[in-house]
Amino acid sequence: MRVTANGDDSFARPFPDSDTPWHLHPPQKVLELLSVEPDLGLPTEEAKSRLKIFGPNRIRESPSRSPFLMFLDQFRDITVGVLFAAALIAGWTGEPQDIIAILAIILINAIIGFVQEMRAERSMSALRSLAVPRALVRRDGTFRTVPSVDIVPGDIVRIEAGNRVPADLRLIDVTRLKVDESALTGESVTVDKSSRVLSDSGLFLGDRFNMAYSGTLITNGHATGVAVATGMETEFGRIAALLQNAEEIQSPLEKRLSRFGKRLAMGIVVLCIVFFFAGIARNEKPLPMLLVAVSLAVAAIPEALPAVIRVTLSLGAREMVRKNVLVRRLSSVESLGSVTTICSDKTGTLTQNRMTAGRYFIAEDSEEARSLFFQASCLNNDAFRTPEGVIRGDPTEVALLLLAEEKGFQRESTEAVWPRRDELPFSAERGMMTTVHERDGVPLLFTKGAPERILDVCAFLSQDGPEPVRDRLERQASQMAEEGLRVLAFAYSRDSGTIASVLSSSRENSLTFLGFAGLSDPIRPEALTAVAACRSAGIRVVMLTGDHPATARAVASQLGILDASEESLTGQELEGLRQEEYEKKVRDIRVYSRLNPSQKVKIVKAFQNLNEVVAMTGDGINDAPALRSADIGIAMGLTGTDVAREAAHMVLLDDNFASIVLAVREGRRIFDNIRKFIKYVLTGNSGEIWTLLLAPFFGLPLPLLPIQILWVNLVTDGLPGIALAVEPEENNLMKRPPCPMNEEILSGGLGWHILFVGFLIGGVTLLAQFLALRTGSTHWRTMTFTVLTFAQMAQLLGIRVEGRSVIGRTFFTNPWLVGAVAITVVLQMAVLYMPSLNRLFETQPLTARELSVSVGLSLIVFAAVEIGKWVSRTQSSRRKEGLSEPTDFPEK
Ligand code: ADP
Ligand code: MG
Repeated sequence: MRVTANGDDSFARPFPDSDTPWHLHPPQKVLELLSVEPDLGLPTEEAKSRLKIFGPNRIRESPSRSPFLMFLDQFRDITVGVLFAAALIAGWTGEPQDIIAILAIILINAIIGFVQEMRAERSMSALRSLAVPRALVRRDGTFRTVPSVDIVPGDIVRIEAGNRVPADLRLIDVTRLKVDESALTGESVTVDKSSRVLSDSGLFLGDRFNMAYSGTLITNGHATGVAVATGMETEFGRIAALLQNAEEIQSPLEKRLSRFGKRLAMGIVVLCIVFFFAGIARNEKPLPMLLVAVSLAVAAIPEALPAVIRVTLSLGAREMVRKNVLVRRLSSVESLGSVTTICSDKTGTLTQNRMTAGRYFIAEDSEEARSLFFQASCLNNDAFRTPEGVIRGDPTEVALLLLAEEKGFQRESTEAVWPRRDELPFSAERGMMTTVHERDGVPLLFTKGAPERILDVCAFLSQDGPEPVRDRLERQASQMAEEGLRVLAFAYSRDSGTIASVLSSSRENSLTFLGFAGLSDPIRPEALTAVAACRSAGIRVVMLTGDHPATARAVASQLGILDASEESLTGQELEGLRQEEYEKKVRDIRVYSRLNPSQKVKIVKAFQNLNEVVAMTGDGINDAPALRSADIGIAMGLTGTDVAREAAHMVLLDDNFASIVLAVREGRRIFDNIRKFIKYVLTGNSGEIWTLLLAPFFGLPLPLLPIQILWVNLVTDGLPGIALAVEPEENNLMKRPPCPMNEEILSGGLGWHILFVGFLIGGVTLLAQFLALRTGSTHWRTMTFTVLTFAQMAQLLGIRVEGRSVIGRTFFTNPWLVGAVAITVVLQMAVLYMPSLNRLFETQPLTARELSVSVGLSLIVFAAVEIGKWVSRTQSSRRKEGLSEPTDFPEK
């Protein structure tokens, strides 16, 4: 096997060529070939220069769609086809300026669509770049976290359960490493790894036990290895070209909308056909009539909807990063707004994960027991002190190490006497971990973990007093737990034969009990307010933890999640319930303790069967199934594993519960704004349809020319839509219950608004036409055209804010929208007063009087919307008077 540089082969190869595959070399030889000291790693300078030669450690992706293709894509829409047809008809009927105008409108439409899509694309790729994977690499003698793309051949990499292997590694030092290589070999059975030399050069990848391949998942244990290939040179890179997975699924709302949009488009086309034949029946000329009908169809079909929704969602996703929530799937922004239940981890999410060992209890009052207890707490411990003197590792273990140091047991000196020979790493299922130490062939075994689990594996010989020892100890642990402390128990075993026999059995039984340590972990103060915010927003908060039931209850009641009288469940109790039994009570359980990850799926399923929308957090490998099946799976950015992050829909960058609540709040705002946009666009279109359909019934001539219809559609849809995306949140946003997820699009009075306010827009437009015609004005068509545009702006200003009037200071809370309306008005003025545009749009300059009548008529729509809001406000406040607790919602 030779080490080759990525891309340019003309670079000098820094290493001697060797055609022997890496797995055939002993570790020492591999390290020599790659010129690296295992204890030091590469010097930073050397790593930098190797990075230049070998290139970044990443799989080259297929290039994303070029902007040019994206622009061309804009012309694939059906409405564009309809417009082209209209242009052709216009040319045929001999109105050349119409062709130019229609083509210009097609172009402007495409540009708007393109800009929107670029924006969405750009903010999504910015988000993706935030989610860079990292790895633990030894450089200049210490392990540090570096972006995985910077790994070079020769780097010493540490991997552990939950990681995705960042490069092809020849393993040097292996502890119970199990790897899921299905991504590479398709084999779903996990593989046990070791560092032994293999001798068969023809081994299949899956049988090369001393290698860990890039892209595979560590499911158990940990190891150190040296990177032998990176980027496209890895085995994964070689096949990556075959598996490009750039899937971005549509959000539920997008799906519902595109279905709705299709039905709506059909309806509109039918209406336009009727409209056309009605015109013919009234002796209108067929070709101009056809042109009007086609323009109406184009104007009334809300083709901008999907694009605006994408933009709104992606702008929202960008906003959420500022609140420390990274969205991996756009659709979850929308689901966030409908969340009814948040199932959250305790440690680190609701609490600070800054543990201190405040209390300890040693079972036997002897110097020897005391010494063994503190030895256990520093030896049965994976936390370590960096050369800079900081302690790193799991906060639980950091606290225990500090406790030992405080009592005079230094890690290095203790471990020098009792070096670690073997271990059974901590797993959430077992709830404990064991290390085996040796001095002069004599083994010493320490186990620590959850009190019940440790007591289960301890042997109790004597029964001193009336109460069994075990019961007394259990009571002791519960007492500590009731104070909110995380309680860990320690046990040891010394007289268990030779080190060889211990190593081969790694027993966790017949141990001698040592004592308990009680760790306090303060709650996050911001979690307290966030829990209260959820309560008033009708969102249930459920706490999940692997901790002791008493600890869990104590912390939950400090946070206001649980009252003393409320029930909580342990994992075991949950296991004992049948799904139907459990579903009956799931809504009342706020705290789960001693929960193992596999039980989380049962909780998610139960909630979902009751139509709840569940957000669930998780950080471990075993949390992945629950994260995937939750409506919103949330992984931890700081402490979580790669596996959890890949399964999740979003990542909490600061592991903080309060950030989830901020994200829900943002999701609600975005959902509101999407609804407002739908309301605005469909009502405007309905106004356009009413205008054209009703005119003949009042004996009025065709109110608008095709080109004018297209103009109205153009200026009213695009710009204001984007401005609505940045509309600030409604006042009562977190004081109302979640909005049901699968609600019909036109529910909640939206359909009526579209019908009636649309009718009103059509009404004032026709009134303008009627009044102008009656006074004998030759400007009647220009006036009609202007009122139709202005009335839609008036509607927009009114529906922008839902719960209250916009008159007063509220008017300026979204300057973008005020700006968008101003620009639209200016554009309309240009069409009215610029001679060249007068010719193109067949308009005439309105007199001051005509203009003010137009504005006045449009304002009627504004007044109507404001009055409508006032009426529904007084109605709902009257309804509320009957309720005792306006902020508490009854459970569904
Ligand atoms: P949480 O859900 O609060 O994060 P964990 O799953 O991390 O809880 O831990 C559950 C229990 O496992 C703890 O209460 C403790 O008893 C035990 N435990 C946690 N970490 C360790 C460890 N490093 N070694 C031994 N036992 C541990
Ligand atoms: Mg944990």
